[in-house]
Amino acid sequence: MNNEYITFTIGKQKRIALIAHDGKKPELIKWCDDHKEILKNHFLCGTGTTARMIAEATGLPVKGYNSGPLGGDQQIGAKIVEGNIDFVIFFSDPLEAQPHDPDIKALMRISQVYDIPMAINKATADFLITSSFMDGEYDHDVINFQQNVINRANTL
Ligand code: PGA
Repeated sequence: MNNEYITFTIGKQKRIALIAHDGKKPELIKWCDDHKEILKNHFLCGTGTTARMIAEATGLPVKGYNSGPLGGDQQIGAKIVEGNIDFVIFFSDPLEAQPHDPDIKALMRISQVYDIPMAINKATADFLITSSFMDGEYDHDVINFQQNVINRANTL
């Protein structure tokens, strides 16, 4: 088997990060309320303000990281790298400039690298939350970073 990739399993209980830009917070809060019965079966976290507002509005437990502009997106990205977050719902606002745009791009990039399901709008979030994979495990192949370092150190 090619050791450049390694199989990871996204478990039955997903570790879901919830993030919404200010203009999209009401939409994400409503979405979480609409899908409360499903979301309560998973571990929820999010950027500071989003997490707090969702928890207050829905009663769901949501662990809060720092606020997005203060590094919350980067914290979530780091958790993805460590294998501790495996699912992202990110209602980003395409019509409003964000001071932390580089952090947002970094989070999207790292989700791609680690093949993490990531919704950046409501329609995608609706498709994800109704997927049959929500009720079970999902195996995916991710770059084997230990092997990647060995190869790079040997060839550069
Ligand atoms: P917030 O951060 O939840 O603290 O508002 C979200 C963001 O803007 O990335």
